[in-house]
Amino acid sequence: MFHLEVNQLHKSYGETRVFEGIEFGIRKGELVTLLGPSGCGKSTLLRALAGLTQVDGGQIRVAGEDITWQAPQQRGIGMVFQSYALFPNMTVWDNVAFGLKMKPQPGRELASSVQEALALVELADFAKRYPSELSGGQRQRVALARALVVRPRILLLDEPLSALDARIRRSLRQQIREIQQRLELTTLFVTHDQEEALTLSDRVFLMDKGRIVQSGSPEQIYTQPASAFVAGFIGHYNLLAPEQAKSLLGPRFHGQLALRPEAISLLPAGSECQDPNLPGIIRQQQLLGNVIRYRVECEAGLLTVDVLNRSARDLLAVGTTVTLAVARDQFCEVA
Ligand code: ADP
Repeated sequence: MFHLEVNQLHKSYGETRVFEGIEFGIRKGELVTLLGPSGCGKSTLLRALAGLTQVDGGQIRVAGEDITWQAPQQRGIGMVFQSYALFPNMTVWDNVAFGLKMKPQPGRELASSVQEALALVELADFAKRYPSELSGGQRQRVALARALVVRPRILLLDEPLSALDARIRRSLRQQIREIQQRLELTTLFVTHDQEEALTLSDRVFLMDKGRIVQSGSPEQIYTQPASAFVAGFIGHYNLLAPEQAKSLLGPRFHGQLALRPEAISLLPAGSECQDPNLPGIIRQQQLLGNVIRYRVECEAGLLTVDVLNRSARDLLAVGTTVTLAVARDQFCEVA
């Protein structure tokens, strides 16, 4: 059975349909990311689960209980926002305690609960500081502690890392995952960043224009995109129209093709090869650090090819002629 279950949820603002036909289930202790471009309805869906926005219809259940029309504070749902939403005139301690004062926990002492929540986010020594005396990452950890102190049944995180710089993002992402796993907390994490979604989640729900268009493990989403939209949103897939795909795979192939840049090999020009291959010429070369990204012109069009940067000798100059080869199990036909 799912711990959080959503059926046929829909919401419009006047004529604007924000989301419709939303159906999913999340298991106890699972971390799912809701991934999609800006404006696709992620935040509104999250707010609807928290009870901060009313839905027009459908059902939300937590542990079997219908919470669709419950007030936010009755739902047992904790939420963390991108903008921290801390009280600037309160200390870290008081910000975290505020959550508990709003919703006292029978049989639990306030002081020990706050201490426990601050220890969880490694801020026990910062209790007396004010938000203005903290870094962005530390403020977000206070917001996380405030959401955790009431021991929520579900944790919702709305782009919690978006305002932070890349290094802090990575370490806080790791910390959130560790805490979530330790507490076995059922969590829905909203992001528009595909790397964040792929590295963090047990499963990913990909959303487009108010609908969930694909769900699966990070591996499934990345290697088996169900549509051109998913392929375009995840990674740097090459999308080949049916005519282009035929030139690479032969006349028996009829569909649109999504091809990952790292699924294509560059061999010396004229190489013999069992896999489907085409002659090509390097038109652009970009060093991304551990990867060299080429744009290679061939009969199928201009393709992106990623090659691991093993040594300086691997670097192929613009103008080099090559053979492009695609491993047989790496084709992905998309709708
Ligand atoms: P995302 O989180 O994916 O960026 P949002 O859920 O914030 O998307 O917004 C989805 C759509 O709903 C957008 O077109 C947005 O303009 C619209 N929307 C969100 N909130 C309101 C509101 N209070 N009134 C009218 N339209 C809104």
